[in-house]
This record gives sequence, structure tokens and C-alpha cells, in this order.
Amino acid sequence: MSATKPTISLGPGDAPATHDDPPARALTALDRNALYAARRFIGTDVEKKLKLRISFDVYFQDPLVAQENPKLAFDEEWYVPWEPGLQDGPTSARFAVVDYDAHMDTLAQPARWDEKQDGFVDPEGKLLNRHNTEPYQFHQVNAWAILQHALEFYEDGWGLGRRIPWGFNGSRLIVVPHAGPGENAYYDRSSKSLQFYYFDRGKERIYTCLSTDIIHHEFGHAILDGIRPLFIEAVTPETAAFHEFVGDLTAILIALRNTPFRHQLIEATGGDISKESTLTGVAEQFGKHVQNKPYLRSARNKLTMADVAGDQRPHYMSQVLTGAMFDIIIKLSKHYLDKRDDATVPQAFWNTIQRMQFMALQPLDLLPPVDVTFKDYAMAVLRAEEIANPADPDDYREMMLDVFIKRGILDTATGAALSKPHHVFERLDLDVFHDVDLISSSRADAYRFLDDNRRALFIPPNIDVIVADLCTAQKLTREGRRLPNQILLQYVWREDVVLEGRQFGHFDGQATTMLCGGTLALNQNGELLAWARKPGSQATGTSPPANEEQGKGTYRRLAFLESLTRRIRSGRIGTPLESEAGLLAKAIPPLVAQRVDGALRFALSPHFGITDDEDDVDGGRAWQISS
Ligand SMILES: [Zn+2]
Repeated sequence: MSATKPTISLGPGDAPATHDDPPARALTALDRNALYAARRFIGTDVEKKLKLRISFDVYFQDPLVAQENPKLAFDEEWYVPWEPGLQDGPTSARFAVVDYDAHMDTLAQPARWDEKQDGFVDPEGKLLNRHNTEPYQFHQVNAWAILQHALEFYEDGWGLGRRIPWGFNGSRLIVVPHAGPGENAYYDRSSKSLQFYYFDRGKERIYTCLSTDIIHHEFGHAILDGIRPLFIEAVTPETAAFHEFVGDLTAILIALRNTPFRHQLIEATGGDISKESTLTGVAEQFGKHVQNKPYLRSARNKLTMADVAGDQRPHYMSQVLTGAMFDIIIKLSKHYLDKRDDATVPQAFWNTIQRMQFMALQPLDLLPPVDVTFKDYAMAVLRAEEIANPADPDDYREMMLDVFIKRGILDTATGAALSKPHHVFERLDLDVFHDVDLISSSRADAYRFLDDNRRALFIPPNIDVIVADLCTAQKLTREGRRLPNQILLQYVWREDVVLEGRQFGHFDGQATTMLCGGTLALNQNGELLAWARKPGSQATGTSPPANEEQGKGTYRRLAFLESLTRRIRSGRIGTPLESEAGLLAKAIPPLVAQRVDGALRFALSPHFGITDDEDDVDGGRAWQISS
């Protein structure tokens, strides 16, 4: 039987053979599965040689940038982890491309997986690569390969170090490359999909599924919805803005991993990317055709929290945090350049970009389960750095703290408190000890741990606390050193709130709930890594810490009501609109209200598009409740 199994050539492939290369050899499908099972011990370069990573031609940016910058047309280092179940579509473990155009009511044929050629082919059997970009099947493969790569960027040890679930029931995110006409793209939880539209500009047809930045931005929404599904149930613009930030951050960090692009940046800036004009000049070349949101350019700004206070536009507000993280990239690159010894400028710049992956992504696991703020993220960034690098000989934390304070994301008092000498790892002061292995073994066990320790964990005695998520992560430091396993526990409860007063319009007299809860991060030794909390206004005890916690919860409740009032007053709440095909931007209200278990729930619209929200301000389009 094994003789008839498809074989994969293992000789001269990616690189020209030299006399040092071993002779070409055939690898059976069984061999490949065995190697796949052991891949975590193999290392990226060998994985490529063993075809456990396969290269794909994907546009570095989009077809128009490719025309103007032939050197940057295709990403030459685009490898996607191979997996045994690859199928037509493309379909893989976590993605399924379904090329259905709802407007035309047409289903394009799927790209076919060709085991022999180790790639996807068009309906004529021709390999889909840079020499065959016209068919829709190339678009399908382009979007899929970018997503497979981006998922790995988040899941590997320098990212979250764990498998990431989706924000819906199901294991595959559906990808619709040609969803219909329109200048937009969406992540849409209700249809479990990413939807990409197309539009005509002059004689040119622009496909958003061929824009790498757009794919990355929308995928950022899908990732955040997967790890923090309750962020959607928020009434504050800051949480919506955080969603946009993660979209932009994903696009920026992955674009900067492209070697020719980094070289071009270095050439234009002489290695000093803080030079605003030259950086903007380079950024201008990208994304000017396809999107009205050039990510790299929007990252260079001087906006502070004071500038965006009271603003309801999530894209606009998100720039404060995107700008702060870009300030950190610039400072880090300066630092690496100064201390580079004999490293070249490109190497120093690569170290910066590689470091940013874990500096920016790992903190996502330390965020509270609900109502995230920019301050929560800044605190998580500082803490994640402290966990991985407690001695901090290069003063990275001080540098980042400075950036966050200048942007108004953290205040000076918080900064001073963080800079005080303290123990890096402490333990929770609990009433009832639970072994950390047991806590991490099941949600039911995690619940018993929470319930036994309500007083110590500031959980009100009578409410129904729920384990929202429980997982274990294996993260790495930048040097590739393994951190102790992290146990990540998210728990939430709902506090009843009755809306009373004319300011609540049609909702006057109705009941709703405010989400409360926390994220506990412990290491396998039971030490506390982080504990981000969103308290409620109910009493949890009479001790000074319990009173302080309740005070914070009371403040949260007032802020919740105030934010809701502002939203209602500006007519920004509608009813949820459901459509399998997805909807265009202007048909979607920014906030929706629906009834669950007899009470109102307010949530951000489950769609996140690329269209700018500049016209979507107070007094702009008003949404009506249909009942
Ligand atoms: Zn977005």
C-alpha cells in the first residue's frame, strides 16, 4: 500500500541544492504525519526542509502595490504550517473558504488541494501561484494562506502560547473572499465568518480579499472575539476602540515582519524610523488605493486620551493606543541600534519587531474578561514584561511606562506605584487552598475554587459566578526560553440594573445587567501572575480592601449608566440585524439592544468593518428601535 501513497520530494526545492545538501529522498504521507506529530521539537528551519511548512505566494500588500513595487510584490518568506487534513476550499482545521457571492447568488469553484504538487490548483489543474493570479481560486488561497500564517503568529510561544478558540460555536472560521459589491470587509460573529467585498475604482476592480492589511485587521477582530467574547457586550466606546486597536496592531506587526519592507524602511529612514516624514512617505505608498485607513500612517500620531475624551468614534479613539505601541517600537529600535555592537541595522530592527510580538500579544491573556480599557492593556503590557523579564536590565518597563503616561493612558500616580520596589511573584491570600493542577483541570473545579474563596476574591456571596474561560498556556521569552505554564481563568457575573428616568428613553423602567468579573493568571507553582478585575457595586465584606473594591464597583455602575445615557441620547442604539450574507456598513447600528432571559442586553454590533467612522459621530445617523 505504501508504495501507492503520494510522496513529497525532499530535495532541491526551496533553495538551490549545494554539494552539502543530502541527496533527494522521498517522504511518504505516513512519514510526514509522524514528523507532524513531533513538530514542536523540530524548529522552523527544519520544518521547512521537511515540508512541514509549505510556501505560498501571497501579496505582500495588494496587487496595485505589487505593480508599483515589483520587489515587494509577493512575500517571499510566506510559509504556512502544513497539516494532515488540508482539503479543497481551501479548508483546514480552523478555516473554511466558501466563495459565495450573495449579491450575484453565485458560488465560485473551490481551489483544489493537489497532494502531488503540495499546493492548491485551479479548476484546470494549474498550480495557483504568482504566475496564475487571475482565477478567483488564487484569491481564495491568498486569503487562506494569510490567515493560516496569522493564526500561527498568535498561537505560537511568542504569541499566546496556546490554541485560540473562536467567539462562536464552531471550529472553522468561514472565509468569504467575494461576498458582494462594496468597499468593505467584516468580521461577523453571527455568521461565523470573515467577509470580503469588492468595488470598482476607475477601470480597476479592487478586491479587499487581496489586501493583506485588511485581512489582518479583520482577523484581529476575530482573534479578540475568540479570547474575550464578552468585550462585544460593552457600552463604552473605549472597548469598541480596543477592538479596532487589535485589528490595526495585527496588520502593523505582521507587515513589519516582511524583510524587503523593513529594508525599504531602513533605506528611507537611515535606520531611524522615528523620522516622521520619511516613515509617512513609505507608508503613503501602501494602502493608498485600497483602503481609506493606511495602518502604518495612522500609527504615527500624537493623540492623547485627553484629545479623544467623550468621543464616540472607535477608529479615531483607537489611534491613541496604536500610537503608543508604535512609540514603543520606535524606542525599542533605537535601543537595539545603540547597543547593537556588531549587529547590522537590519538585524537590530528585526530584533525589535520580534520582541514586539510577545510584548504586544502576550498581555492580551492578562486582560479582564469584560469592559477593557486602554489602561487595562497598558497595565497588562507592563506586567507581561515583568513576568518574562523580572530583572529588566535594559529598563524596558520604565521606557514603556513613560510612553503610556505621555499618552495619558496611565497617570503619574499609577506610574509611581508601579515603580516602587515590590515582590515580582506573590500568592493570593485565600480562605481555602486549592491545588493549581486541580483548578486548571476543569471548569467545575475552577468554579469550586472561586466559590470557596468568594470573600478573598471579592465575589458577592449570593450571585451566580460563571467560569467564562479556562486554559493553560505555554509561552516563551524573546530568547525562546520557556516560561512556567500559565493557568488562565476568566470568571464573570451579572449585576441587575434597572433603568429609571427619562434619560433612558424607551428603555425607562426596563431591567438590564452590568457584567462584572475578573481574570486570574497563575503559574504552575501557584504564584499570582496577574489579576485584572471589574468589580460590581454589591458588598463582598467589611474589610478596607472589600470596601475599596465596592467603591470601584459603584463607580463602574455610574459610568455604565452614564455611557448608556449618552448612547441613547445620540440615537446610536438599534435592534440586531441578521443576515447570512452580511450587511454593508451604513445599515448597521453601532450598538444593539436585545432581550435575553427577560432583561435587556446591550452589545456592540457583531460586525466590525474597515470603513472609517468619521461621519459616525453624535448627531450623525440616528438608529431607531423598531418596537
Ligand atoms: Zn475594524
